[in-house]
Amino acid sequence: MDLPDYRDEIIEVMCKLIEIPAVNPAYGGGGEYERACWIASFMKREGLEPEIYEVADELTPQKRRPSLLFKMDGKASNGPVLWLVAHLDTVSEGDRSLWSTDPFKAEVRDGRIIGRGAEDNIQAIVSSLFTVLALKRTGRQPECNLGLCFPADEEAGSEYGLVRLINEGIFDPKDEAIVLDAGRPDGRFIEVAEKAVLWLRFFIKGKQAHASSPHLGINASAIGTHFGADLDDLLKAKYGARDYLFEPPYSTFEITQKFDNVSSPNILPGTDSFVMDCRVLPKYPLGSVLGDIEHLISEYEFKTGAKIEYKVLQRADAVPPTPLDAPVVRKLMAAIEKRRGTPTIGGIGGSTCAAFLRRIGMAAVVWSTLLGTAHSPNEYAAIDNVVADTQTLIDVVTACAET
Ligand SMILES: [Zn+2]
Repeated sequence: MDLPDYRDEIIEVMCKLIEIPAVNPAYGGGGEYERACWIASFMKREGLEPEIYEVADELTPQKRRPSLLFKMDGKASNGPVLWLVAHLDTVSEGDRSLWSTDPFKAEVRDGRIIGRGAEDNIQAIVSSLFTVLALKRTGRQPECNLGLCFPADEEAGSEYGLVRLINEGIFDPKDEAIVLDAGRPDGRFIEVAEKAVLWLRFFIKGKQAHASSPHLGINASAIGTHFGADLDDLLKAKYGARDYLFEPPYSTFEITQKFDNVSSPNILPGTDSFVMDCRVLPKYPLGSVLGDIEHLISEYEFKTGAKIEYKVLQRADAVPPTPLDAPVVRKLMAAIEKRRGTPTIGGIGGSTCAAFLRRIGMAAVVWSTLLGTAHSPNEYAAIDNVVADTQTLIDVVTACAET
């Protein structure tokens, strides 16, 4: 089934959604409520009956966070559901002076739609919405049961969105999902695995003194520098295995954020702090990485007299990859092959909504055609990509029986 010419309507709905901000409250926004309501009434006008699942949140004007759910029976209506997942929320606009347009006023120019959220994740909402709409308007039934899941709160950990839906038992482990939230510009990359993610903030506590009298203090900054370098060497050497499913094919351990210490060049710092971002291949348990880190900390404490502590800022243990023979993988591969060329399959440094779904045993893939403008100033989506993604999703949901 080919996509009728929905291009103008797709542009119109994308612009409308950009102009209803859904900035996550964690980034100072008012949340997703109005955007969810607009989508629900748009669907109702088309004769579709979505459901809005609400979670209480005192931080938003409506005191609740919405996730939109919709199901359409397939020809085999007692089988599992294939969910198309796109998140409702966005990050904030960031530094407004870096935008050449109003981030919450859509601008259509040179085949692009510019505005906050255009690529992350409005493109996905619109392509999955028009997949359902195309079926409904042409009176077609998908081959398998089809679901739309537009959760809140993806940008800040999913506690008010997907995590709650999973705990409510909305999904069956036999269900499958296409999470439309990562991808490459050629639209041929299917993500089936994610590395474990661990963000650690280290605190080195020494003793402040005059820089001319280091024997009277404990230089936390110098100790932190050596400790950081040793940590970097240790982890990269010990966890250096290659797995070519992933890009890059090894675990990464990167010192990222640093923090202010003293206000003058002649003060010996009594404290030092830095963050390490670790993305670890699934074969290594995070517990083992943490064990090695704690061992190095003890050595340094003994050697220097400083106290070293760490705080886990984020931890997502790895889950087994989605099997390559899962129906959703085969269907998506066939649909990509049909119009775009040979697909490639692999893993990324994580983490998306797919990790939560894999954790309950669902076969989930992450796919989309994206230019990588998410979270940047002047974020935009290419109109051709939204239309092409819609077409690919239609091919997937109408091809279940053939693959
Ligand atoms: Zn996203």
